[in-house]
Order: sequence, then structure tokens, then C-alpha cells
Amino acid sequence: MTLDKLYSRYKNPLNAKQRAVVAEAFEFSKNAHAGQKRKTGEDYFEHSVQTAAILAEIGMRSKTTAAALLHDVPEDTKYTLSDIRQKFGDEIAGLVDGITKLGKFKLRGDKKEVQLENLRKIFLAMAEDIRVVLIKLADRLHNMRTLGALPPEKQQRIAKETMEIFAPIANRLGIGEIKGELEDLSFKYLDPKNFALAREILEKEFKEQKKYIDLAIEELKKELSDSKIKVIDVHGRAKHTYRFFLKLKKYDMDVSRVYDVMAVRVIVPAIPDCYEALGIVHKKYRPLVGRIKDYISLPKPNGYRSIHTTVFGPTGKIIEVQIRTPRMHDEAEFGIAAHWIYSSARTWRDYFLRRYSPEEIPEEELQWVKQLREWQKELGSDNIEFMQGLRIDFFQNQIFAFTPKGDIINLPEDATPIDFAYAVHSEIGCRTTGAKVDGKLVPLDYKIRNGQVVEILVSKDLKMPNQDWLRIARTSYARGRIRSQLRKAGIMTK
Ligand code: MN
Repeated sequence: MTLDKLYSRYKNPLNAKQRAVVAEAFEFSKNAHAGQKRKTGEDYFEHSVQTAAILAEIGMRSKTTAAALLHDVPEDTKYTLSDIRQKFGDEIAGLVDGITKLGKFKLRGDKKEVQLENLRKIFLAMAEDIRVVLIKLADRLHNMRTLGALPPEKQQRIAKETMEIFAPIANRLGIGEIKGELEDLSFKYLDPKNFALAREILEKEFKEQKKYIDLAIEELKKELSDSKIKVIDVHGRAKHTYRFFLKLKKYDMDVSRVYDVMAVRVIVPAIPDCYEALGIVHKKYRPLVGRIKDYISLPKPNGYRSIHTTVFGPTGKIIEVQIRTPRMHDEAEFGIAAHWIYSSARTWRDYFLRRYSPEEIPEEELQWVKQLREWQKELGSDNIEFMQGLRIDFFQNQIFAFTPKGDIINLPEDATPIDFAYAVHSEIGCRTTGAKVDGKLVPLDYKIRNGQVVEILVSKDLKMPNQDWLRIARTSYARGRIRSQLRKAGIMTK
């Protein structure tokens, strides 16, 4: 890829100064990797440029992409990190160093321990500078795109690791685009038979559905332009193969029950427009009962926001319509990377505060950010049990629950009032005597569901948790706090 081609891949064009940084990294890396080839027969340098291009497309700017261009230089060429620091400064060198440290994942040894070790590496990198993890994801994506050139055993190992570690991380960071492609590429190598089957059904469905999706787009464009809402875009979107296959399996391979093979997407300027557009869609097409999902008032845990509704579209065909603002759209495709498009803030914490707070949600610190900081403290320790718990907390499906004041508490699925209490504050946790969910008393092992309001009943005199709570609590955070409180009180010695 030429430098000009790379420039053209940026979501928003770079200015002259930014271009100069990228050009310098481009030349340096090209020269450093000169003569090296990959298994595909391509120049090694091509891998570096492709990695940078993936990042440019999701909205990353000059420094991150310059670091991507240089990401394999210290390990695979005669140039060192200090050469890079001298030429490109501390920030870019810091990113390159982060990737080198994240480095090769450990592969041999006890399976569980190896996985945890790899995960720990990623969390540590993430807590330090999320851009390092984004570069790693882009690097992996390009390696997956060129996986065909490797021997079969390697293909299997890399595809498995991608499915188990990298795709979930892309998902947790909300980068739908990268998550979808990583899953599809892994699926292709891990289960070629079902991949081919799913592709075949999917392509047939696309062909059939395209006609009335196009018709729905036409009709909705017209309805919306008759209203006062300014429509930015109405387009169709196709489902990724792996996600489609999972749904198909859930419905016993009955494709007629998968309603969102294709969907119509409506992009409107602001949040009130989204709700107004929903009304217009429902006036035109009758909605299916119970299929309206308002992820604007109740975002998905990875931050995804949109309104989804399933309707009887043209000629009575069932279709899904997704309504969102341009910003929500970028956030859905590029996740945490959209942060660099919309703000200049640098840290993880800033990102989450911005993403959830401005108008919609009070300026409270998100639970997840709090947790990340707690994790950071414990990540240095060799606590295998903690790391296992962390794995569950991080990758499990998440729910949102509310305090009676309306603050959002982010918890894994199956969390109980004990987890909720400790997530609010450990001092509330240890004083818990009971809990009300949506105004009704519930047992402490009750499983909280998405969107419920949880009120923790406390006693001032109580200062110590019950040992049984260790069984009830689902989060490693709550269990860790309970254990340390018991230890302090001399009840637990370990
Ligand atoms: Mn690489």
C-alpha cells in the first residue's frame, strides 16, 4: 500500500502536520523491514501498513497509526526502541513499547494458567493506554485476514485464541466492526463445515430479503421526509456470518425465525428525533409486540445505544429497524475508538464519563471504571482465583440495575443484591440486612435482571458480612471485599 492510499483510509483527513508524522513512520518502517517477507509472500512492511490502515478506518489519528507502522520494528529489525524514541518522541515510543511488552502470548504450560497470564497482560496494557490494545486488535485482524498462508495447526491455534480472547475484547470495547470480522474469520477456520453452511443460507436470504429491504428504505425515506425530522441516512445492514449461525442454531436452524438477517438503519440528528422517527416507523409499519428495545435509555454494557424495533414491513414481511444518531452509529461500529473522534480526552476514565454522562446520565463514575481501578491494584498479585473471577466479570453478559436515586450499577448476569450492595460501597455491603427489587422484598440470593431498581436495606449496627455471602456473591469484587472484611474481623484466617 502506498502512503497516499494510507492517507485516504483515515475516517477524517489528517492535516499537514499529522501527515508528516505518518510519512516519517512510513519511511522508517519501510526501510527497517526492507527485504523481509511474510509467509504470504508479501513484503513484511505491508503487514505494518495494513495494521495502520485498519486503525485509520476506525478513527484513530496520526500517533496511533504511526505506532502501528512501527509496531514490529524493535522485535524484528536491527532498530531498537531507543532509536524510535529518538526519532518519534516519548508518546509514540511508549505505544510501541506497550505492544512489544504485550508481545507474544504465552502458549505452552497449564491451559488455565496460560489463559489467565495472557488476559492479565491485556488488562495491564488496557489500564495503562487503551491505544496499545487497539493496535494489538488491528494487528490480529490483519493476521487473521492472511491466516491462510500458515500451516493448519497454527491456523487452529491462532483462530481459537482469536475467538476466545480477541473477539470478546473487541466486543467489550464496543468495536462492532472488528469484533464481527474477527469472529467470522475464526469461525471459518475452526468450523469450516458450518461456516460454509451458514454462508450459503445467508447469501440466499440476502438475495430474497434485499428486495423488500430496498422497498422499506424507499418508503421510510419518504415518510420521514414528510415529517420535520432531518434524515441523515437510511440504509440496510447485513448480519455477520458467525452471529447469524448462533441465532440459527438457537432457532433449530429455522431461518424464517431469524428476523434480523438484514435490517434497515435510520440515522437522525438527535435523541428526540430517534423517538419521533420510531413513531413514524410504527405508523407506517405495525410493530411486533414485545420487540421494541430501547438501548438509548438503557444502553448495553459495552455502551451500545440505538432503538431497535421489529415490524411488519412491505408486503407484510417482518423486518428489523434500528434508529440512532450519527454519534451512536460511530460508537456502535468503532466503540472506544470513537472517543478519539469525539473528544480530545486521553484516559479510559474520561472516555467512560463522556460516553455515558453528558446529558443522559448523571455525572457518576461508572461502575466499570471503578472496578478497573480496583483490578489494577490486584493485577500485580499472583492471585489465580482473583484472575479467574475477573475473567468471568469481564466477559460475562452484563446487566444494568439502578439505585433508588437512579444511579446505574453495572453487574454481570446472575448478580445478586449482595453484589449490588458491594458495587455501591463496601460499607453498604457489610451492613446489608435485606433488599427490595422494584419495591418488593427479595431474598439475598435473588438474581437481578436488567433495568431493575434495587434498594439495599441496611442496619447501622451491623459491621460485618455474613460468611454465607461468599456463596451468594457472583462478582470477584464483592467476594474479595467480603473476604477481606472477614479477615479483618479475625473470622477468616486465609
Ligand atoms: Mn504485527
